[in-house]
Amino acid sequence: MVTATRPEAKVKLGPTKLLINNQWVESVSGKRFETINPATGEVICDVAEADAADVDRAVEAARNAFNHSDWRKMSARKRGELLYKLADLIEENKEELARLETLDNGKPLTESLNMDLPFVIETYRYYAGWADKIQGKTIPISGSYFCYTRHEPVGVVGQIIPWNFPLLMQAWKLAPALAAGNTVVMKTAEQTPLSAFRVGELIVEAGFPPGVVNLLSGYGPTAGAAIARHPNIDKVAFTGSTEVGHLIMEAAAKSNLKRVTLELGGKSPNIVFADANFDAAIEGSHQALFFNQGQCCNAGSRLFVEEKCYDEFVERSVERAKQRKVGDPFASDTKQGPQVDREQFDKVMGYIESGMRQGAKMLCGGHRFGDRGYFIEPTVFADVRDDMDIAREEIFGPVMSIIKFKDIDELVERANDTIYGLAAGVWTQDISKAHAIAHSLRAGTVWVNCYHAFDIAAPFGGFKQSGMGRELGEYGLQQYTEVKTVTVKL
Ligand code: ADP
Repeated sequence: MVTATRPEAKVKLGPTKLLINNQWVESVSGKRFETINPATGEVICDVAEADAADVDRAVEAARNAFNHSDWRKMSARKRGELLYKLADLIEENKEELARLETLDNGKPLTESLNMDLPFVIETYRYYAGWADKIQGKTIPISGSYFCYTRHEPVGVVGQIIPWNFPLLMQAWKLAPALAAGNTVVMKTAEQTPLSAFRVGELIVEAGFPPGVVNLLSGYGPTAGAAIARHPNIDKVAFTGSTEVGHLIMEAAAKSNLKRVTLELGGKSPNIVFADANFDAAIEGSHQALFFNQGQCCNAGSRLFVEEKCYDEFVERSVERAKQRKVGDPFASDTKQGPQVDREQFDKVMGYIESGMRQGAKMLCGGHRFGDRGYFIEPTVFADVRDDMDIAREEIFGPVMSIIKFKDIDELVERANDTIYGLAAGVWTQDISKAHAIAHSLRAGTVWVNCYHAFDIAAPFGGFKQSGMGRELGEYGLQQYTEVKTVTVKL
């Protein structure tokens, strides 16, 4: 048992070794590394550190399971049943998993429990339902032939996940891969290995055959890179920074042309028109930026506000940010916990300094909160210009940048003037304007009069350097199948 910031925050720790072939094993090197509680900066425990040799072992297990095990012969419906069983086990252990998530990641327990976990469970159930509905087509080709397609699993899939929603990112990747019949080698983020491993125990308990799911903890440049360049992995699915996305694609290209799907960074425009429902726009824009400590790839981090309502919007957004309760993530009234680690903390503080240096007006926050852990005060900048670093680069922290606009045509150009294209928000009561803007924005998701309105059935992913491919829904499933054409002479 580990005591986090409050006595009632007792959390039971799960496994800390690697899961390969349904066995918990130490790494080949025997190395381990520490995982930190970001609310205190203290060590929670250490976990096995996977390296290239462990990736080899995991790939061998996954390949063997793909080629020879019961998994390959199992009916699609039975695969679905295993996923339903896993969802049930996660639901039974929901409270424990939420506490583990909060301890390792720092997000408020109310959110781990009431947002992350329900979405995780729903993700496994949704794709469980798909497992026996993955169907090909019959195609009327010329001549005397019978032609049909089969949607077969891609094979051994490498999955590399980030730390901002550890359990959810695990679910978004595992569930469609397994529903389609692939086997998996997954690397968790070095900051947050614990909750994914506890799910690993439940995967074994649910009855998935050995080698179908292999879980590794370790660092990106070692274990992560070994997955990306592995010649015996058929596809790599990655969520993380755009910078690393480039490396993954390069490694895939240089090794075996494995399939690549990427969900990368963003600098999403969130646009407020003067004719919006003002209360909804203030609250929605607050959540668009500050939710999850600002650590969302789709955060509404370029907040464009129409000149006519700019001053009032800024004033009310500052008031709202000042009310945001920062503190112990295990306390029931906390809305904002710590940033995930020292590195992220330093990076965000660096952007706050850069905003001030480049002449943006800081209206609240801007400092560390408290004297231990990695907490940052909710920060609001106004008079932000398009060319400032805080308006161009991904901050990944609780820093709101409010930008003024006047002309609607110029606005679309400015909103699209970014290397990213993950998401966008539009706030207006004019329905034609909402659709027109939504169609002009170069982004994978546009939310109108809402933000962060995720659903397991609705695809999510990026245009431009925010990624390639889609997760969630039927589109997400397609990324885990290969289409085979069978033609029979009649
Ligand atoms: P962040 O900066 O938000 O931590 P990263 O892109 O560095 O985002 O990390 C996301 C995931 O990618 C983590 O699991 C990390 O270990 C992994 N990763 C980092 N560098 C590499 C790399 N060179 N090759 C493969 N995976 C990597």
